[in-house]
Amino acid sequence: MPSDPVTRLGKALKEATAAVIFTGAGMSTESGIPDFRSPGGLWDRYRPIDFAEFLSSEEARRESWRRRFAMSSVLDVARPNGGHAFVAELVRRERVKVVITQNIDELHQASGVPSDRVIELHGSTMYGKCLGCERRFEIADVKRRFDANGASPRCDGCNGFVKTATISFGQSLPVLAMELAGSAAVSCDLFVVLGSSLVVYPAASLPELAKRRGATLAIVNREPTDLDGIADIVIHGEIGKTLEGVAMHVRAN
Ligand code: NAD
Repeated sequence: MPSDPVTRLGKALKEATAAVIFTGAGMSTESGIPDFRSPGGLWDRYRPIDFAEFLSSEEARRESWRRRFAMSSVLDVARPNGGHAFVAELVRRERVKVVITQNIDELHQASGVPSDRVIELHGSTMYGKCLGCERRFEIADVKRRFDANGASPRCDGCNGFVKTATISFGQSLPVLAMELAGSAAVSCDLFVVLGSSLVVYPAASLPELAKRRGATLAIVNREPTDLDGIADIVIHGEIGKTLEGVAMHVRAN
């Protein structure tokens, strides 16, 4: 067996028939979107607003929308990077059956992975949703209203609070997405983590579950994670550069 972990990951992906890719915020830093925990990341700038606070405080709702509008300058221009493109290629090659993501930026879909192959555990920040009736709101429309009256947006239909379609701390994860992710984890032959600190649960329980059920577990992250000890392949490096090396092995005849 080759000892170089990049070669081993390339070989494992080439042989896989039902792999799962699991991505975190590190997947999108090379597209210009900061992660949470790296220096200069979002947590250096913002204290998180949890779900209970969003529900109970008009100022918290206004503040979370102000933050979202401030992120538009980054999110509106962000494009899928080489790592996203390689993941999309693996789906096309039928090596990867599903992409489970903690990201809320929709860049996997933008890179060409069909929406029904992407499981968004933490939702999407690319649109708003009424917490009462689940009606969809476009961010630009929400911003126009917010700029006009300064109040947090309410649903025209049911007067419910409109929030980005993301899962905040303290908010339940979408049941269907968690079920689909759980069944993908137990049935995959290879589970590859890309750019996640693996500290946010229950999402981080998925690689543990896949490993327990017999999958090969690979982790690519700039810094060590708590699950490195149980992984079969660990690469501490940049995702883009690492996947360029991995791609050469997958594409080789
Ligand atoms: P995290 O910030 O906790 O961890 C990201 C990890 O990626 C870090 O360990 C960091 O060292 C590593 N990393 C960053 N850039 C990298 C690169 N180019 N190559 C290799 N490794 C790199 O993020 P998380 O684990 O996803 O969990 C935090 C939550 O943040 C998630 O729930 C997610 O919803 C949310 N979030 C999403 C986005 C996004 O959608 N792009 C951005 C910020 C936060």
